[in-house]
Amino acid sequence: MSPLSCLNCPTDVPPSAITSSAPPADPAASGLAGRIEDLLPQTQCTKCGYPACRPYAEAIADGRASYNQCPPGGAEGVARLARLLGRPVIPLNPVHGREQPRLLAVIDEAACIGCTLCIQACPVDAISGAAKQMHTVIDALCTGCDLCVAPCPVDCITMVEATLGRTGWQAWTQEQADAARARHDWRAVRLKRDKEENDARLAAKAAAKLKEVEAAEAGTPEERAEQARKKAIIQAAMERARLKKLQAEQDDAARSGAKQ
Ligand code: SF4
Ligand code: SF4
Ligand code: SF4
Repeated sequence: MSPLSCLNCPTDVPPSAITSSAPPADPAASGLAGRIEDLLPQTQCTKCGYPACRPYAEAIADGRASYNQCPPGGAEGVARLARLLGRPVIPLNPVHGREQPRLLAVIDEAACIGCTLCIQACPVDAISGAAKQMHTVIDALCTGCDLCVAPCPVDCITMVEATLGRTGWQAWTQEQADAARARHDWRAVRLKRDKEENDARLAAKAAAKLKEVEAAEAGTPEERAEQARKKAIIQAAMERARLKKLQAEQDDAARSGAKQ
């Protein structure tokens, strides 16, 4: 559980994603959603009912969510949001969980089978390890979100209290929140880049296969029919990929529009 040699931490993580106390540069963050997001603890735990702190901030700004849904922020977090929004201080909504000491994930390394599912689930890249090797939580990076617990097939991750007696913002500093936010945002960039690279690889492979099918000899009507069938399958797959990419680009544009 202690920090040790990091076997899987992405080597291209910018230093700011590990040590910076400043939020990532985001011109759009000047809007109301950005100012709300600045006040959230950035554990990215999803307990508010949204996939990360940013979407929750957007939902509050749009009036789709109340400002008392973040257990890691606790009562102080609600008060901070209430001040920003000019609204009354209200109790944390218990439907989303209770305010509690900050937790820390601990992996029973003897039981770990190295499946990597926890790494995929961790929103801030706080777990190091590689396939079929034991995995370890990097304590200083763990936000206590507990998202790694459920996917573990051998139940070897437990959450322990890391800040005895201190809860909410008493158990979490602004510097920790800023660092978690930077790591989360960087992870999103990396995952998007990885997906784009993979998609490009698949597209090139499909184009090469299409060329190969088109160049193949097809003398008989049966061979020509088979060639046409194969071409149609490849072209349909390429068209599906193109539409998916287009949709992703439109979603990205809509998201950045919503940030402004
Ligand atoms: S810390 Fe968790 S509950 Fe709070 S806003 Fe972020 S994701 Fe939502
Ligand atoms: S190690 Fe587990 S609890 Fe800690 S930040 Fe990652 S997913 Fe959350
Ligand atoms: S999910 Fe569990 S078994 Fe799989 S690598 Fe993580 S700790 Fe090990």
